[in-house]
Parts: sequence; C-alpha cells; structure tokens
Amino acid sequence: MKLTKQVLKIIPTYLELNTEICGYIFPDGKDVNLFVSSVGEEIKENKRGQCTPDGSKPYIWHTHPSIVKQYPSAEDILKVLNPKYAISVSLVFSVWGIWKIASPDKIHDLRETKALWIDKINRFLATIYHSTNRGRVYEEGSIKKTIKNICRYIYDNTGSKLYISLHVTDYTTEYISKTMSFR
Ligand SMILES: [Zn+2]
Repeated sequence: MKLTKQVLKIIPTYLELNTEICGYIFPDGKDVNLFVSSVGEEIKENKRGQCTPDGSKPYIWHTHPSIVKQYPSAEDILKVLNPKYAISVSLVFSVWGIWKIASPDKIHDLRETKALWIDKINRFLATIYHSTNRGRVYEEGSIKKTIKNICRYIYDNTGSKLYISLHVTDYTTEYISKTMSFR
C-alpha cells in the first residue's frame, strides 16, 4: 500500500485545523487515495471534536490535529478490534507522523467489556501522556515501549493480534506500508 507525496500533501493543512477529519481509503491498484467522509465538531476546551469514521469500510483514517494529543486514543485502538465494524486497518495522521493500527482479529465480547478495555488502555496511555508533555512532544522510547505493552496485553488477554506502529514523517515523502494488506 502506497500513499504518494501528492496524496499526503494535504495532511499538514488538515493538521492545522481545529477539527478532526475522517475518511476511508479505497484500494486502487498500488497507489491509493484518501477519501474524506466527515469533519468533526470544532475542538474547544474540554471537547475532543472527534468525527465518526465509517465503520463499514475496512480501511479508514482520521487526523489528530496539532491542538490535540498526537497519539491514538483508547477508542481509536479498540475500533479495529470491534466486531461491530469491518475496520481492519486505521491510519491516524498526526504531527509526529502516521500511526497505523491494524488487526486481523476482533474481541468478540467487546460490547460487554468495552468500558473495562478503555479504562485499561487509558492506564497504559497515561505513560505516553506524561512522557510527551501531554501528548505534544515526541518521545520515542516511552511511546514504543507503551505501545508494545498495549499490544501484548490485548493478545495475552484475548488472543487477538494487534499491530500499532508510528511512521515518523513530515508528509513530504511517500508512505509505503508493506504489512498493510489490501485484500
Ligand atoms: Zn483519534
């Protein structure tokens, strides 16, 4: 899967907005395009301004503009594991770069256990929050370690494989993901 320079060029503009942008990715040969499906509400103090991605699409994306935390939320992580959605790969475009959250599996009782999972993942994410000056300043060591711990925790407790990675970029080069399979 390849997102060309031309496709990614718009992202820095999106990251300056005080709202999230959501969309989906439609596989089209080797190069793929980003489609916008919704725009979140304006982000104000104590409001997250999230937009709702299209759960019927397998490949989705959304932005984390510069005024919000630059790492995925617990909800973002659980979305690919939710049996309610067809989502298997979710990209999050942030100032730090491109997060890829992917899973071939679902957590089957997620509807009943969601609140517990959100709480548990948020405990892990608190480590990133504190080491990155509230989600603003990139700090590779603690980010990588915490993300690895989240994926391992979910696998150990559900058997569901979860992959989260961050491709550090300023969006001036193309993004190629070899592990992202578009079936
Ligand atoms: Zn998000």
